[in-house]
Amino acid sequence: MTKSETLFARAQLTIPGGVNSPVRAFKAVGGTPRFITKADGAYMWDVDGKQYIDYIQSWGPMVLGHNNPKIREAVIEASYSGLSFGAPTEAEVIMAETVSKMVPSMEMVRMVNSGTEATMSAIRLARGYTGRNKIVKFEGCYHGHADSLLVKAGSGALTLGVPSSPGVPDNVAEHTLTVEYNNIESVKEIFKAHGDDIACIIVEPVAGNMNCIPPVEGFLEGLRAVCDEYSSVLIFDEVMTGFRVSRGGAQERYGVKPDLTCLGKVIGGGMPVGCFGGRKDIITHIAPTGPVYQAGTLSGNPVAMAAGLAAMEQLQQEDLYDSIFENTQALVDGMQALADKHNISLTTNVAGSMFGIFFTDVEKVTNYKQAINCNTEQFNKFYHGMLNEGVYLAPASYEAGFVSKAHDASVIEKTLAAADKVFATL
Ligand code: PLP
Repeated sequence: MTKSETLFARAQLTIPGGVNSPVRAFKAVGGTPRFITKADGAYMWDVDGKQYIDYIQSWGPMVLGHNNPKIREAVIEASYSGLSFGAPTEAEVIMAETVSKMVPSMEMVRMVNSGTEATMSAIRLARGYTGRNKIVKFEGCYHGHADSLLVKAGSGALTLGVPSSPGVPDNVAEHTLTVEYNNIESVKEIFKAHGDDIACIIVEPVAGNMNCIPPVEGFLEGLRAVCDEYSSVLIFDEVMTGFRVSRGGAQERYGVKPDLTCLGKVIGGGMPVGCFGGRKDIITHIAPTGPVYQAGTLSGNPVAMAAGLAAMEQLQQEDLYDSIFENTQALVDGMQALADKHNISLTTNVAGSMFGIFFTDVEKVTNYKQAINCNTEQFNKFYHGMLNEGVYLAPASYEAGFVSKAHDASVIEKTLAAADKVFATL
């Protein structure tokens, strides 16, 4: 038995499923999750001493690569002054100023501790601001695990939502309307039926939780126009795309300005941080300036702020994003060429440093139905082949991949050499 197998068996005795977040359990691909001891740059090592090129990067935060020395030093330094004060600090002010500068639509910012908290709070704010209950989300988009966001579409296009998890009351789910990603007509239709009751649209401006699906031309602009027409709030969930698909997030990349934005992952440099913010006239509705309640014992934590600020500072580096994007494109183009060489039906999507590979005949994957109809059996074989070759991809066919600053040309080359071997076995 490997050390990971031993630890996994032991973990399952005291942790449900042996993991603290379900996708880590390898249920979609089978086999044993690797227990990790350390990570550095583009690499991670498991308890059995095996090295992997990591394309999960902690599910997105590590855009500068693992164990970034400046972030590490900032955390150590901050820890000498105390771990939490429950009182305001200058670091929080600098963080809010930095976020506002990098993402100008975020005129004011409230820090929280996770992406889930950010989206949950932004939705409460949108409801409180508009005095409406219904929200619109998209099939295949994930916004964390708050009740009103764990909802799937009803049976017809215009039916109310149904819970996608036990524990979510029907009368909470019915306020969530779910429509098809990249289909602006379905959005217009739902607004025709319910527009005056809709508080907000929440969207991943590049979907990263049904593999990687960028917005088709006109989709985000269409959402903006619909929200303007019905005085609903447009929320971009940039927890994944923020500081990743460009320095200013997807809103900068695609030139569409939301009313509220949710951030997480990169903003904490690897520490548990999220934030939400946006138009001043909306966000001032939260406590203490307004009546919509929102709070947090550890929000704006000084050690977490130090990590985030050290990350933000390095993101200013002039050519940083160009080189990460170039390497991501090289990876994806290389994968496509190798799949073609081995006669494997494969298509790819890329948005900045996010990428997706789909085992399918479909030429371009643009929605959830296409994403879930890919050949999962072939993906799973590919997944384990790559893992065996020392390449750590996300353990499910519906997850996006992430490239960091540390994934240089030599890392991409090694990955493609592994893929060449594995494609030959499919
Ligand atoms: N929003 C998006 C787009 C995400 O990808 C995630 C997590 O993957 C979340 C929200 C939830 O963030 P967290 O896991 O930090 O609660």
